[in-house]
Amino acid sequence: MTQQIILKSGKEKSLNRFHLWIFSGAIHHKSDTIQDGDIVDVLTSGKQFIARGHYQNGSIMVRILTFKNEDLDVSFWEKRLTQAINMRKTIGLLNSKTTNVYRVFHGEGDHCPGLVIDNYNNTLVIQAHSVGMHRQLDTIVEALKNIWGKKLVGIYAKSENTLKQQEGTSDLKRVLYGEVNETAVLENGHAFNVDMIEGQKTGFFIDQRDNRQLLEKYSEGKIVMNLFGYTGGFSVYALGGGANEVHTIDSSAKAIAQANANVALNNYKGIHKGIEADAFEFFKNLPAEYDIMVLDPPAFAKHQGALSNAREAYRRLNKLAFDTIKPGGIIFTFSCSQVVTKEIFRTAVFSAAAQSGRTVRILHQLTQPADHPVNLFHPETEYLKGLVLYVE
Ligand code: SAH
Repeated sequence: MTQQIILKSGKEKSLNRFHLWIFSGAIHHKSDTIQDGDIVDVLTSGKQFIARGHYQNGSIMVRILTFKNEDLDVSFWEKRLTQAINMRKTIGLLNSKTTNVYRVFHGEGDHCPGLVIDNYNNTLVIQAHSVGMHRQLDTIVEALKNIWGKKLVGIYAKSENTLKQQEGTSDLKRVLYGEVNETAVLENGHAFNVDMIEGQKTGFFIDQRDNRQLLEKYSEGKIVMNLFGYTGGFSVYALGGGANEVHTIDSSAKAIAQANANVALNNYKGIHKGIEADAFEFFKNLPAEYDIMVLDPPAFAKHQGALSNAREAYRRLNKLAFDTIKPGGIIFTFSCSQVVTKEIFRTAVFSAAAQSGRTVRILHQLTQPADHPVNLFHPETEYLKGLVLYVE
């Protein structure tokens, strides 16, 4: 029998507005036998069915998958995945000759919390961010096979390590279908090798695709610093745009090796140096005067409690950049922390600029690309923020 949760009176309001999370404080009653990962029916205080989702003990207790009384079976997933894929078709990603890496499914952005699917030239990587979603992987794989057909090369599950404690299983990372190997992909005509199994996240930071293109436009003849460069995404675009010299800096030796390999794959003219270093230390002894700096750190705040430290880290990082960039230089600065809002990020960057005494103009305000859609009803889906700054 499906488990049930009854809301406190009035707590159905956010569900009437299609928000997809139920916080623990909204719950009046839950059955004693309920367990992490269970599918639950959510009832109003008047015992009316209002939604169905995955239960998980924590501050977010239910992640809503549907507001209808429907089974979460293969045909449900076929429908949801097809809707997501149709949107990617509309934005030109499905049969593109120049890009075959994109996000197929973006969690709450595609109305299903806890599920991320990335496509690497027909090898799919699935990330489950909740126990309930992890348990549905086999059903989701069936649906994906039906939709993708013969083109499908492989499917790899790469669920969050944080699920381990709750589940006590060792199958978080495994091949779910076909073969999964390092894969060559194209993004806006640039070539990259992606190691889905060993790489960070699903293997590549697909969410910077549009922003890399903007960097390419500004790179001709420039000396470019790509800080937190990972496998060289921004670096390859800068070289493709005619940069004289690009430095990729990352604390991971593996990432730097892969960045060097990706640069070699594209064979552009400019000089490239991959440097294994801590980003903050790197500023102590800069090897060049930079015309352009890209600052794309990992999420400094993963939850609300880390917000004030994160704010300070963004300020400190951006101050180092303002203090050292060439007059007339350009800084691409990003935050991918969901809890750091656009306003908080901009204030941190503003403080850094004020303290460095440089005159700064905002040229562009950047965000995540369309295959990482923002759910209008669920503003938490907006997470990537970027500013392109001209420093006098
Ligand atoms: N800009 C990249 C993605 C960056 S992800 C792209 O477009 O693909 C963040 C990167 O920062 C990771 O590769 C991680 O290894 C690196 N990193 C984390 N902490 C660091 C530090 N203190 N110094 C340098 N690199 C760091």
